[in-house]
Amino acid sequence: MMYRNRFIALTLSLAALHASAQSDFVEEREAMVQQIVQLAELTGRETGRPRFADHVIGALRAVPRHEFVPEQFRNAGAYRDSPLPIGSGQTISQPYIVALMTDLADAEPDSVVLEIGTGSGYQAAILAEFVDHVYTIEIYDELGRRAAETLERLDYDNVSVRIGDGYQGWPEFAPFDAILVTAAPETIPEPLIEQLRPGGRMVIPVGPEHAIQSLQVLEKTEQGGTRITDVLPVRFVPFLDEDSL
Ligand code: SAH
Repeated sequence: MMYRNRFIALTLSLAALHASAQSDFVEEREAMVQQIVQLAELTGRETGRPRFADHVIGALRAVPRHEFVPEQFRNAGAYRDSPLPIGSGQTISQPYIVALMTDLADAEPDSVVLEIGTGSGYQAAILAEFVDHVYTIEIYDELGRRAAETLERLDYDNVSVRIGDGYQGWPEFAPFDAILVTAAPETIPEPLIEQLRPGGRMVIPVGPEHAIQSLQVLEKTEQGGTRITDVLPVRFVPFLDEDSL
């Protein structure tokens, strides 16, 4: 009888363990990471980044993407390598693109990073895993509030979210070591170039709405000059201004 009870207890605890592993989506997340690693290799010749830095891969493993997607995608799609709708006509970017942009930014543990286009907050969380502080601006009030709530619930205390038009950047906290823009303007906003530290890098999709844009890296030289490299054709949601909301 005693053995039988012990057996039941053991079965129950294994079941509990299995359930918690499932709800954390560890396996799904690892499969997503492996897919991104492979895609990075395949596109490496074009992007110049066949192997993403360990801290980028570590962040992809750590951030629970299912917490950043709408309820109906939590169990299906959260860890697929594709963008998903998040409301207000916006999307959470494809994980491979998030990883590529993060890698291209070359941010480090002491970096202060500006992101334009908070959206779900996922990209901000990926950066917050290994940089010092992330400032992020979202033009849609509802998205910005929800992202701030998610980030707070998950204890990301090194992210500041602001609602507003990111065109003007966030001058109070400039200069930034890296700037990531996750919506596509037709030309790179001048205030963002100004707020980049000499030696810093901006990663930004540039091009017309509803067309193929170019993911660009803008490097600011120590002398304050700029050098722009085209990395990959991409398709992002347009960079909005308050009149177009
Ligand atoms: N980085 C986001 C991706 C969001 S898509 C994520 O990880 O989920 C791009 C976001 O940019 C959208 O939420 C959109 O509302 C926002 N956006 C577009 N133009 C903007 C602007 N001028 N200033 C701030 N945010 C902007």
